[in-house]
Amino acid sequence: MVDQRSTDRPERMSWHAFFASQSRVMALRSTCPRLAVGCVIVRDKRMIASGYNGSINHDEHCVDVGCKVVDGHCVRAIHAEQNALLQCARFGVSTEGADLYVTHRPCLHCTKSIIQAGIVRVYYETDYRADPYATYLLQKAGVTLEQVSSQLDMLLNGHQG
Ligand SMILES: [Zn+2]
Ligand SMILES: [Zn+2]
Repeated sequence: MVDQRSTDRPERMSWHAFFASQSRVMALRSTCPRLAVGCVIVRDKRMIASGYNGSINHDEHCVDVGCKVVDGHCVRAIHAEQNALLQCARFGVSTEGADLYVTHRPCLHCTKSIIQAGIVRVYYETDYRADPYATYLLQKAGVTLEQVSSQLDMLLNGHQG
């Protein structure tokens, strides 16, 4: 006999889906309406930091006063990856050899910071403005870049049968 409880329960979430989902949840806290990005930094299968794109501490939020757009970019918001890395700097947590999960493919500036912080693997869910120079830098530094799925849409909508 098969125990019904074990067959009814959805399959256990993979690590990739789990951390990619965490980054999606982080993105829900974003304060810039142009793009909601979330990020988590992971070491030894544990989250050591997280971030989302939003205003610099003490500044006003884009969602309250509008974006501050210069040359097509919102300059008010700091990116999710930078926020997560700086959280590590602030609290003295090493990012050496860590993995980074982010909802969207990192921009060139974040890519530079990611490499300099010693991150070795970057996982993103949504392709976004792929920068050839960023891709080149990651390859040169031996940092792997891989697209993964949070499976969140399936998990939230797909279990009714
Ligand atoms: Zn903004
Ligand atoms: Zn960025």
